[in-house]
Amino acid sequence: MDRYALIVEAMVLMARQTIRDVIFRDGPETEQPDEMYWQALSIANTLGERDAKAQFVDPTLSLRVPFSDPDLARQYEYAHNMVLDELAMDACHPGNSSGHVLYCPKGCNVLHTTLGYSECGACGALMTSGNEDQFYDALIAAGQCA
Ligand SMILES: [Zn+2]
Repeated sequence: MDRYALIVEAMVLMARQTIRDVIFRDGPETEQPDEMYWQALSIANTLGERDAKAQFVDPTLSLRVPFSDPDLARQYEYAHNMVLDELAMDACHPGNSSGHVLYCPKGCNVLHTTLGYSECGACGALMTSGNEDQFYDALIAAGQCA
């Protein structure tokens, strides 16, 4: 589906959900079905991710948040920002297909991997291949090596 079709699909789902909510409000059912709401949010998420990837490839591309509905706009922006952050991190810390070592800057962990970066399982710090000096400095500071 192209961008415009996805925007329309999400907006139609939200409108149908709103109509269904009004009908159910006065009906006998106590549980209101909300699957169209979640489908609409899923589309907004997909669109945010897709737009972020397109803008990363072409930074001159100007795309506005395509939703006035606050929930759809929030989901779109969340997904958009997540993907832009991930792409920026991948660009700063590229992976290595033959494998390399990532170091925790606080000295907790080393990890042999093809990934460009990871999160330290012990302290949550960003582990990169460029943290080797900080890793050993932290060990020396802790008295674990001379
Ligand atoms: Zn750590």
